[in-house]
Amino acid sequence: MRISKLFGKTLREVPAEAETVSHQLLLRAGMVNQLAAGVYSYLPLAWRVFKKIENIIREEMDSAGGQELSLPVLQPLELWQETGRDRAFGKGLFTLSDRRERSLALGPTHEEVIIQLVSHNVQSYRDLPQLLYQIQTKFRDEPRPRGGLLRVREFIMKDLYSFDVDEQGLDLSYNRMLQAYQDIYNRCGLPALIVEADSGAIGGKDSHEFMVVTESGEDEIICCLDCQYAANAEKAQSVKDKIDNGAPLPIEEVATPGAASIEEVSAFLKVPPSHTIKAVFYIADGALTFVVIRGDLEVNEVKLKNVLKCAELRLAAEAEVGEAGIVAGAASPVGLDNIKVIADDSVTLGTNFVAGGNKQETHLRNVNYPRDFKAEVVADIARARDGDKCLRCGGKLSSTHGIEVGHVFKLGTFLTEKLGALFIDEKGVSHPIVVGCYGIGLGRLLAAAIEQNHDDKGIIWPLPIAPYHIYLCPLYREESKVSEVAEKLYAELESAGLEVLFDDRRDSPGIKFNDADLLGIPLRVTISPRTLEKGSVELKRRAEKESELVLLEGIVARLKGAC
Ligand SMILES: [Zn+2]
Repeated sequence: MRISKLFGKTLREVPAEAETVSHQLLLRAGMVNQLAAGVYSYLPLAWRVFKKIENIIREEMDSAGGQELSLPVLQPLELWQETGRDRAFGKGLFTLSDRRERSLALGPTHEEVIIQLVSHNVQSYRDLPQLLYQIQTKFRDEPRPRGGLLRVREFIMKDLYSFDVDEQGLDLSYNRMLQAYQDIYNRCGLPALIVEADSGAIGGKDSHEFMVVTESGEDEIICCLDCQYAANAEKAQSVKDKIDNGAPLPIEEVATPGAASIEEVSAFLKVPPSHTIKAVFYIADGALTFVVIRGDLEVNEVKLKNVLKCAELRLAAEAEVGEAGIVAGAASPVGLDNIKVIADDSVTLGTNFVAGGNKQETHLRNVNYPRDFKAEVVADIARARDGDKCLRCGGKLSSTHGIEVGHVFKLGTFLTEKLGALFIDEKGVSHPIVVGCYGIGLGRLLAAAIEQNHDDKGIIWPLPIAPYHIYLCPLYREESKVSEVAEKLYAELESAGLEVLFDDRRDSPGIKFNDADLLGIPLRVTISPRTLEKGSVELKRRAEKESELVLLEGIVARLKGAC
């Protein structure tokens, strides 16, 4: 491809609207263009990367036994209502109505549609297992589309669904996909960490995410430095030490003038925050919910949402707390009725805590569970932290960041039960089909590749997904043979099947080298009067600082070996 003909222009300035590195570089490299919030066009260079990622994914899905098909984007809303997942997705679901006032949704995922399709084509255990997939556009109305291709509202995803007769079959399909996913990321040059994950709005049991580890990643990962444990911070668990303050003592009221926050109360009463109980108020599906947790811990809202099984969860406003007759700053579960209390198990692991007194500027000492208060649910709803102890091995947990580039779920039977997708076993007994689902966002993977592989000059594409392999960069001078040699080499490299971006512009070396670095093509081949004096070209890898002179003779074979 000649750069003089390439559609898309590089920019020297960093566009103001771009927050993340991948967004900045994609815009500067002229690879994407934003049409609306979270809606992007891919220009030819980015689309070549996209196609390479797509091909790798397709090959690995096929070799794992997947069969490709295509499902409609436009879906009847009733299908979503049947499984109740219209509520679970909430405002994330794009809905519309047709000319007959029928409600439709733009598919954010395809479990409902494919289960319906499978139920029409599977009757007997002999028709199973099946691995079916598509690579297709999805729509999700993200509340805050941002970060360029990292969080968008329209995106292309590979989604595979497994259908099995039982849990053991699902385990086999699931493990096969875990392996295929690892092969995909390795082939893309982006090794990914596999972490335990929350299954979110999709529902289901086991769930794992694949993370490309990078400091700029918006997902926090908690992993053990001593064993294999790794989990998304939404799901991660850690050991909570018992706070032993001796045998339970009688409850005691203390005045705490001017002290409302945990820090203020701790300082005033001279006890560490871990010896206090903190109250946090939420509105869960419209109902005020009282959450108690040890003072030094934070509520993990994903865990809380799962415990409450609610669709919408938010922190309560001060006025909402006040209306319920609760004293903010001194709230406590002690002596409260008529309000749902959810306790983190930390408040049950210890004695003689300090808690609010439900009176202005008053707290209670020696609060003990279950003697002094009850909770409707006691569960782990705390965030695991860097430095906590590993629940599996007691080792030290560490926090890192990554970008989610794949998500797999064991859905089980809850959707097939609702949609009546059944099969008949050897004995003629009917059972719901056991389902797993497995997704990769392709644009996200492309952006993650840039987040992980760049420097201050631009992108450094991993070779397998680079838009071109070679940046052929002649530095033209009057009356030199550079042009002739470059044209000839370009033709030879093309006919050898190498992917070449030929910078045939008459621009200065500075402009050309800057663009070569920005576009991140793995190998740069420079031809100048000086290299030609030695019958050579200069070869430089994008990821390395040093360059070398390589004889023109045999250069095609040499480059072929390097690609
Ligand atoms: Zn461990």
